[in-house]
Amino acid sequence: MPSSGHRLRDVEHHPLLTGDDSYDSAASSPAEADAADRVWFIRDGCGMICAVLTWLLVVYADFVVTFVMLLPSKDFWYSVVNGVVFNCLAVLALSSHLRTMLTDPGAVPKGNATKEYMESLQLKPGEVIYKCPKCCCVKPERAHHCSICKRCIRKMDHHCPWVNNCVGEKNQKFFVLFTMYIALASVHALVLCGLQFIACVRGQWTECSDFSPPVTVILLIFLCLEGLLFFTFTAVMFGTQIHSICNDETEIERLKSEKPTWERRLRWEGMKSVFGGPPSLLWMNPFVGFRFRRLQTRPRKGAPEFSV
Ligand SMILES: [Zn+2]
Ligand SMILES: [Zn+2]
Repeated sequence: MPSSGHRLRDVEHHPLLTGDDSYDSAASSPAEADAADRVWFIRDGCGMICAVLTWLLVVYADFVVTFVMLLPSKDFWYSVVNGVVFNCLAVLALSSHLRTMLTDPGAVPKGNATKEYMESLQLKPGEVIYKCPKCCCVKPERAHHCSICKRCIRKMDHHCPWVNNCVGEKNQKFFVLFTMYIALASVHALVLCGLQFIACVRGQWTECSDFSPPVTVILLIFLCLEGLLFFTFTAVMFGTQIHSICNDETEIERLKSEKPTWERRLRWEGMKSVFGGPPSLLWMNPFVGFRFRRLQTRPRKGAPEFSV
């Protein structure tokens, strides 16, 4: 429930606040277009550590799979096929991670609750809109303020430190892909670990790896633990996200048991709206819509503090 501080006037179904396209066209001033062209990055210490840790764990898994299990294998095609599959999954997972982290999740422009903007909405008498007291923006329906991003985020699901960003309207697809590819890579690594243990126990430990037997065992046990942990976490998250998308309900809305005031897009309609268009292989592609953006080391005067 919004506090009295949020309440201005109601424009829940106002075209400038409900539709994505209409909003963008309304906020297409040169300054905002310039801001949209910059890379989105949240400067949060905890989030940056978690994001780097995620990358290091994937690199560790790739190292063990490639150098401990596959390269010493005598079966050439077993090594090639599994090497290609695991590395493809790792690259897709890390690309999805980068896209989730560096994509604006649907931030509402800061401080747009100006007199001119209110007038441009052409509100009818008695209509109510919500203003965020923290970032002084007109809060669209289903937007929530994130204290880490310091912004109101459209269809905010949750803030995930592992991707150092909010999961919202514009980056949910990449987050779902990230959890899916990590879960698949974890299963693959666990299967390879199991086969490696069997091969080592049946044969000679000194011959099944280029590393000494104690080092090999430690590396494999760490990979198994990492695989189990990652698989459990990402599989649960993937299931929760798909459930949310099919019910057109964010995690925040579910926790708050908010009654939907919006028209729900259920199942395939929900999936289409998040993944973009009818079902196709493009849904699995984390590179869709990628374009190079300017990277600025320092935000210019007046630019949002989260941009680099
Ligand atoms: Zn806010
Ligand atoms: Zn956030």
